Amino acid sequence: MTFAATVLTLFPEMFPGPLGHSLAGRALEKGIWSLDARDIRAHAADRHRTVDDHPAGGGAGMVLKPDVLAAAIDAAPQAGPRLLMSPRGEPLTQALVRELAAGQGLLIVCGRFEGVDERVIAGRDLREVSVGDYVLSGGEPAAMVLLDAVVRLLPGVMGKAESGTEESFEDGLLEHPHYTKPNRWEGVEIPEILLSGDHQAIAAWKRRKREEITRARRPDLWLAHESGKI
Ligand code: SAH
Repeated sequence: MTFAATVLTLFPEMFPGPLGHSLAGRALEKGIWSLDARDIRAHAADRHRTVDDHPAGGGAGMVLKPDVLAAAIDAAPQAGPRLLMSPRGEPLTQALVRELAAGQGLLIVCGRFEGVDERVIAGRDLREVSVGDYVLSGGEPAAMVLLDAVVRLLPGVMGKAESGTEESFEDGLLEHPHYTKPNRWEGVEIPEILLSGDHQAIAAWKRRKREEITRARRPDLWLAHESGKI
């Protein structure tokens, strides 16, 4: 089964962009997933291909028109959830990424300007997803972030070597530090335990480091992790 991703955007030429390279790019070539980037502007009804208009009630910027966007959504294949990239959406977490990767595909709407008309969000049941507490100029980079995270979890995308069982967030902890040869670099040695061959001791070290780093850097994650244990 190919995981079918459809992206609605004013800039379809931005895709696949980074998603055409490396892990996601190889998976695209292998047909593990497909990417259909569609131009919202193709659904503009007037001679000037207008997609935006002034915000009702005044204010800066422009708003994506509901009729044009809804027409683009209705014309797209309907496989899986419909998402709208939006700074006020639910945060994109590894848990949400896992949920989306378990499906058969998704539709992603990329906003531009000040955003989209509120009535399309409700009328087309769009799930708003944010990639972080900052404002991008458009939803396209956010859609790429989401798709990159989802695609790497699809069966057959990551080999055993790349497989992410010990990774950040998979169990609510951040990752331990990594080292590779040379053993001594700029006067700094790789921690001795990692060269000891004692797999149990190494696993315990990694665990301890993950806990230390999470506690120090992300008290919010640490608290959630700890309360999950009870
Ligand atoms: N006026 C809006 C920002 C619009 S930015 C506000 O204040 O909330 C234009 C578009 O970029 C948005 O419609 C959305 O699709 C995308 N975007 C910007 N920041 C984003 C973020 N953090 N996560 C996901 N999408 C984002």
